[in-house]
Amino acid sequence: MQDTIHPAYQEVTVACSCGNTFQTRSALNKAINLDVCSKCHPFYTGQQKMIDTEGRVDGFRKKFANFGNRMAQRKTTTAQ
Ligand SMILES: [Zn+2]
Repeated sequence: MQDTIHPAYQEVTVACSCGNTFQTRSALNKAINLDVCSKCHPFYTGQQKMIDTEGRVDGFRKKFANFGNRMAQRKTTTAQ
């Protein structure tokens, strides 16, 4: 390994928005700020967030509940 061509690989502190901090090594050589880390990301915590908070699927089902019936009705009325 040549002496002058490699960036310094030093210990840096990583800070997450959840408050978690840990040390790692990086050639960035300054503190790293994260939005999510392994302590707070749902994939690692196992806590699933509900995406359908406004009941959009229920709204869709309500809207198109009679869709098949209406189409059948339309067919019978236009056939006459
Ligand atoms: Zn975090």
